Amino acid sequence: MTSNSTDAIPVALLPGDGIGPEISAAVTEIVDAAGAGIEWIPCAAGERVFRGGDPTGLPAATIDTIRRCGVALKAPLATPLGGGERSANVRLRETFETFAAIRPAAVLPGLEGHARFPGVDLVLIRENLEDLYLGLEYGLDRGVSVALKANSQTNTRRICQAAFAVAQALGRRRVTGISKSNILKVTDGGFDRIFDEEAARWKGIEADRILVDAAACRLVTRPESFDVIVTSNLYGDILSDLTAGLVGGLGVCASINLGREVALFEAVHGTAPDIAGRNLANPTALLRAAVLLLDHVGRFAAARRIERALALVLREGSALTSDLAANGAGVSTSDFTRTVIAAMSRVSAEGGTPQWRAPSFDAIEGRSWPSGELRDFLRGALPTAMKQAAGQAARAG
Ligand code: NAD
Repeated sequence: MTSNSTDAIPVALLPGDGIGPEISAAVTEIVDAAGAGIEWIPCAAGERVFRGGDPTGLPAATIDTIRRCGVALKAPLATPLGGGERSANVRLRETFETFAAIRPAAVLPGLEGHARFPGVDLVLIRENLEDLYLGLEYGLDRGVSVALKANSQTNTRRICQAAFAVAQALGRRRVTGISKSNILKVTDGGFDRIFDEEAARWKGIEADRILVDAAACRLVTRPESFDVIVTSNLYGDILSDLTAGLVGGLGVCASINLGREVALFEAVHGTAPDIAGRNLANPTALLRAAVLLLDHVGRFAAARRIERALALVLREGSALTSDLAANGAGVSTSDFTRTVIAAMSRVSAEGGTPQWRAPSFDAIEGRSWPSGELRDFLRGALPTAMKQAAGQAARAG
């Protein structure tokens, strides 16, 4: 989606739970001050919705708004503990079939001193709909429990195609497939086979594969050697927190949940209940998500203005939130926000390179196995012992 007009672009805004409302207020204030021309449409989701008695955590009005806008900025959502509710995050991904989570991990200009590996510049792409996140867990007899790792060929092909398409859109050189096929010969072996087939089709982009354990080691010894990574849901969840740690931590990394019709932009971190409501949270991760969103909708000048102002504030170092401040005594969320807005008058919005370009979906095969259908299929196809087991779909985050 691009827009060169000055008309306001409607974007669904999910202010989220915990620190969500604080960081979304900060980010929308900065984006508005940059003159991005975004019309924020607030949408309810998560904790308050669960508490109001809606077990989905995702009201129909929110679904309608996101579908209409095609693009959303989403602050973190809490999953209620102890109840039977599924995560509103997982429900969002399933509702809009955002099959790819795209997680760039590059050191932010100005944060070089905070990153263990200043040269890291990789993009991790995680399958977002199936694998262990189907939440099919079963308690069997004699104290045995089972969780189902189910990967369909169609969704595996789609995530591999998305990885090569994203690599092409971003001008990247190599895609690395990650699995554990030496042990999981059917599920992860299938991932490898499909990855290799797709790699052969994408001329001009190099491809290689590595086992997930070896990848974990290489990520903390030679992370600069990775370019684009593609992997299944659980490995991607774990490795993307690891790659966030390489470049400054959860407080500074953004993520895109990408489907054919909708793109949800969010921070990698959660609701940070330990600091919620205290005006302490770092809005940088959600702000970076907003910069990716502005690139996605074609508001390039505002995106450059924000990223340069942010870099200036981070480099000057006198107004950092406590997660980044050297002595742990940082400024408040609102002081950080004011400082970034003030810094915008000292930077140019001209030139520069967009951080995100949506891939062409022409090369990505069509709709297949939405995870609700896959879950129902698996329930029907399972051995009787598992079907009779009491376990229901579990929560996943
Ligand atoms: P978390 O990411 O919320 O917090 C981990 C640590 O990082 C905490 O110490 C927290 O204070 C700190 N932190 C996180 N974001 C920060 C920020 N912006 N500024 C400063 N410090 C920050 O992880 P958690 O505590 O494991 O999860 C809390 C809740 O968030 C859970 O309910 C979980 O399900 C949910 N969650 C939601 C999402 C999402 O909506 N995408 C992602 C992960 C976790």
